Amino acid sequence: MFRTVCLRLTLWYTLLFGLLSLGAFLLVYIHIAHGLRLRTDDQLRATVREFVQTRKERGLIGLQNEFNLEAAATGKERIFFRLLDQNGGRVASSDLSSWTALPSAISLLPAGATALITRIQLPGHSRPVRVLTTRLDDGFLLQTGLTLQDNDQVLESYRETFSTAFLLILILGGIGAFFIARRAMGGVKEVTEAAARIAAGNLEQSISSGNRGKEIETLATVFNTMQERIAGLIDELKTVINNVAHDLRMPITRIRGVAETTLTGDAALSHYQDMAVTVIEESDRLVVQINTILELAEIDAGLKVMPLEKLNLTQVVQKAVELYQPAAETKKISLQLKFSSTHCLIDGNLPALQRLLANLLDNAIKFTPALGRISITLTMEQKKILLGIADNGPGIPAEEQNRIFDRFYRGDISRSSAGSGLGLALVQSIVQAHHGTITVESDGNSGSSFLINLPVTK
Ligand code: ADP
Repeated sequence: MFRTVCLRLTLWYTLLFGLLSLGAFLLVYIHIAHGLRLRTDDQLRATVREFVQTRKERGLIGLQNEFNLEAAATGKERIFFRLLDQNGGRVASSDLSSWTALPSAISLLPAGATALITRIQLPGHSRPVRVLTTRLDDGFLLQTGLTLQDNDQVLESYRETFSTAFLLILILGGIGAFFIARRAMGGVKEVTEAAARIAAGNLEQSISSGNRGKEIETLATVFNTMQERIAGLIDELKTVINNVAHDLRMPITRIRGVAETTLTGDAALSHYQDMAVTVIEESDRLVVQINTILELAEIDAGLKVMPLEKLNLTQVVQKAVELYQPAAETKKISLQLKFSSTHCLIDGNLPALQRLLANLLDNAIKFTPALGRISITLTMEQKKILLGIADNGPGIPAEEQNRIFDRFYRGDISRSSAGSGLGLALVQSIVQAHHGTITVESDGNSGSSFLINLPVTK
């Protein structure tokens, strides 16, 4: 329970609320306490000014009366006044029965000072007392003191009010924080539930988009993309398995047929030898096909390490063209190579590039009718090398062009010719492993042109 993000967020929010409101309370408290102290000091100073004036106008008796009146108005145990001569002897005062423990006035005013406000704690008084001692022109000392009871009461009631408010803030803040956190995490919960449904096997489902906040929507989109990719891979896997099963069944059936004939037949030795040749040929084809499937799977899964080294592609292409010259000549096809540089350097893997060229040239010769033309071009640009293989064969229909690179895909024209439908898939994987791209262009009835774009060596 305490491990849920929702609860943790709630606790953090509540703690933050609490700390912030405590900080705000302290600030206000300090401000109020300071204001109250200033007000008390002002009050003491104003009273002293008033008494000085009274003494001047109405003499000692008038001052004594004023002391009594003021003390009675505020409360004789809360305020006191006294006038002392130069030696500290009392000349006049309010009722000091509650102020017996007052220290000597002289001790509260350092020599040379004319007025000073001090805060003293007197025995018998629960609150501290603020005392203003003033030296008058004739050397007499006028002293007035006020307990800080009123101020303390104000501060105390503020503290009480805050304590209640603080408790409320914590409770309401906590509840609010819980709802906010739950709402924020609601999107995650929704996505998790949808993901769990998909994980349970329903790969057709996707997480619907909503208004759950940008981060959650991004999470849902990424999840959907991943799920689509998994569904795509599973589809591809099914197709591959179907195709492998289909493509392997045919030659195996043929091999089985031949073997059966051998068992039941009663033919001449040469006939059996022919059958054995057929079995060997079919088996070889099977092995090649299985190897290609494995190789493709390894390249695509990144398992096959394809070390790249600096290669002169012009030389590699020249050799491949030379190798295919006899096959082209058999069909009276002209095989022409044009290159813009004798040093087209790339980072490549020689055996892989040879397989790539072999597949493309093999297809071109296979699909181009007798007396046709195949041209191979190699152009070096600033950062890339373009390898083109174009023929004037039957072309590739538009609807087939984006499928010919799929594994096991074979176009309509190849039904009568040998092949596995894996050649171009392998070519594409090799190009990608060289960080390049391959495209095909054809108007669908007069020739095909394959264009490979490879980065030049670094
Ligand atoms: P395969 O040649 O074994 O059929 P590929 O993967 O090499 O398999 O080629 C896939 C398909 O692309 C071929 O079946 C064919 O329909 C088409 N194709 C490839 N190269 C050419 C070409 N030069 N001219 C016309 N069609 C081609």
